Amino acid sequence: MLDWKTSGRRRNSMSSTSITASKSILSLSTDSDGDVEGKALYVDIGANLLDPMYQGSYRNKERHEADLSIVLQRAWSNNLDQIIITGGTLEECKKGWELAKTDPRLFSTVGVHPTRCSEFGTTDESWKEHLEGMRDLLREGVEEGSIVAMGELGLDYARLEFCDVKLQKKGFIAQLQLAKELNLPLFLHNRDTGTDLLHILKKHYFQTDDDSGKYPTRAGGVVHSFDDTLELAQEFLDLGLYIGINGCSLKTADNLQVVKDLPLEKMLLETDCPWCGIRATHAGWEHVKTSFTTKTEKKYEAGCCVKSRSEPCHIIQVAEVIAGLKGISVEEVANISRKNAKSLFPQLLQLKQ
Ligand SMILES: [Zn+2]
Repeated sequence: MLDWKTSGRRRNSMSSTSITASKSILSLSTDSDGDVEGKALYVDIGANLLDPMYQGSYRNKERHEADLSIVLQRAWSNNLDQIIITGGTLEECKKGWELAKTDPRLFSTVGVHPTRCSEFGTTDESWKEHLEGMRDLLREGVEEGSIVAMGELGLDYARLEFCDVKLQKKGFIAQLQLAKELNLPLFLHNRDTGTDLLHILKKHYFQTDDDSGKYPTRAGGVVHSFDDTLELAQEFLDLGLYIGINGCSLKTADNLQVVKDLPLEKMLLETDCPWCGIRATHAGWEHVKTSFTTKTEKKYEAGCCVKSRSEPCHIIQVAEVIAGLKGISVEEVANISRKNAKSLFPQLLQLKQ
């Protein structure tokens, strides 16, 4: 665990963020890049810690006692530095913020997932009200220090049974407007949308204000759980976005080639837990070196991981696959991706109140 109180504190001006914390906030006790000498520390930028599985519930069946505190303890003792809790509905994001406030190493996001856009309702009034609720939560959470990004937001054409394309696009565009207004980084979800997400981002977030053809500076973002082509990744990189890598990005030989070709300087690590664990049937598995003692949920044992339930400690396996593909050390993957996370989400450099 980091010592939060040692020397080397510095202020972060937060100058790029229009919402600024009014209280005095100080940085972590590390060098100017937030690095810790000789140690591979991880930032998990996407953890669904509010999932019922961490309360012992699997597909509505109670299998064991809630063990979120054990999962978090296991994360901290396996070199997790910080974790960003992903939110997908306004109610979930309120709970995510409450959870983030319980630990200085936990942070959270506020957004409506593309498959949850029906929660905006059906009238202009209901949309306005919902967006106002999001705006209030974002302002308060950023000011307090735990809320670091807008998300998840985006498009998901693999699950149109929850929300059709039209509704997803309307929800996405409305949230992009809010993100611009508050100047917050984006935690983007993109699944099977071809170039739709890219085009909406260009038009509604990065649009030019003049005829220069240049994109204005924005707080930027990450396309999380990336599993698409290198060409699409390159388009996102050209916009200054980061690419989020988890087990779902490492399933096939094609996935691995994409990750191998992506610059580490634009990669962020995530687990997307309890989903997207790396399995023995995945192409990336051959590079995994670290294993955890695991039991099925029916034979749950405190102190063991649960089979097929990913958790933040598994982030080392994501780093191991990237290290294997690129022929570099796992420490290098950890340190560079961690610096990337703190660069995109400047509040990770702040000491919360
Ligand atoms: Zn997602």
